[in-house]
Amino acid sequence: MVKETGVSYYGLSYAEHAKADFQEMIDHNCNAVVLALTEFDIDFWFPNIVEITKAAKDMGLKVYLDTWGIGKWFGGEQTSLFLTNNAGNRQVSALTGEPLAAACFNTAAFRDYFYRVVEKLAEYVPADGFFWDEPHYQLPKGIASVTGGVADDWSCRCPVCQKKFEDEYGYPMPKILTPEVVQFRENKALEIIREASDRIKAIRPDSKIVCCVHATQNSYYVTERRGYDNWDKVAKNGNIDVFSTTIINYNLPMSFFKNITKRTVDIAAKYGKGNQRWLMGYYQEPEDLGKIKEVVHLYDEMGVESLFAWTYRGGFGTVLAAPHALDVWDTLGQAYGEVLAPEYKLKK
Ligand SMILES: [Zn+2]
Repeated sequence: MVKETGVSYYGLSYAEHAKADFQEMIDHNCNAVVLALTEFDIDFWFPNIVEITKAAKDMGLKVYLDTWGIGKWFGGEQTSLFLTNNAGNRQVSALTGEPLAAACFNTAAFRDYFYRVVEKLAEYVPADGFFWDEPHYQLPKGIASVTGGVADDWSCRCPVCQKKFEDEYGYPMPKILTPEVVQFRENKALEIIREASDRIKAIRPDSKIVCCVHATQNSYYVTERRGYDNWDKVAKNGNIDVFSTTIINYNLPMSFFKNITKRTVDIAAKYGKGNQRWLMGYYQEPEDLGKIKEVVHLYDEMGVESLFAWTYRGGFGTVLAAPHALDVWDTLGQAYGEVLAPEYKLKK
């Protein structure tokens, strides 16, 4: 049976209002919440992030902090304060040399900024853990993805990445994705995740680190190049506690849901980690909402321990709301109630 069920939650400002929403989550059979924190939230609303986390915990929910869209390195629609405040330190397109609207996480400036953010959160916010939300290089991200599409360009080939590559390999960084460039990108992408996780655990040793990567095919012939596509390489990191994969479009065949979930559960088991699967609970909904239940039951039967959906109330009130957002939310809540093990239920 499933041990954890939750949704992401954003737009948070006041603990007393958040409490009503948390109760609604509990009524929808959730026992956990991912707080999607924007850079502005962390900078401006910090005292209330602490209060909101305490409120959720007092109600029995497990709380994970999502460094949502930070630097546009993590997934998410939020805007980035780092990019606003820094004209440089951006990822650079390999083919055109143009700067991109994403921070290069291999630069000292961004790493320093990010470590300060997570250290502050770890020190003052009594959450249960952190959620690394779809970290990725800006380009390419379409290759072999669930949405398809191919790209020749890639990032990052900024001066910092070029110098680091040359220092390690002894020759200038190529403009094409050679096997060495692929390895270099992956190694660097994991370096910052590892260091941030280490720093969190040094401050809050019980903090659970969940790393959620894109749900991709990664076959012999085609693979994505987001930097976190080698699941073995990601999951085997000692300080990652839960291996998680993202949402899947409901229009895809059930075989795809099975394939992604089997690989997620297997990789997590191989490295002695917890597993987590995400469900689409916004934007796109299945023609028959019953498919949401079918997928939830499939995941339960396949051994998924933690189930999360993006997002609270089906994204109701946002431009990315599901067409029948509140019905999606209610269906999800019922499905959670059917698979969540009784001893983990908060709903009275
Ligand atoms: Zn770079």
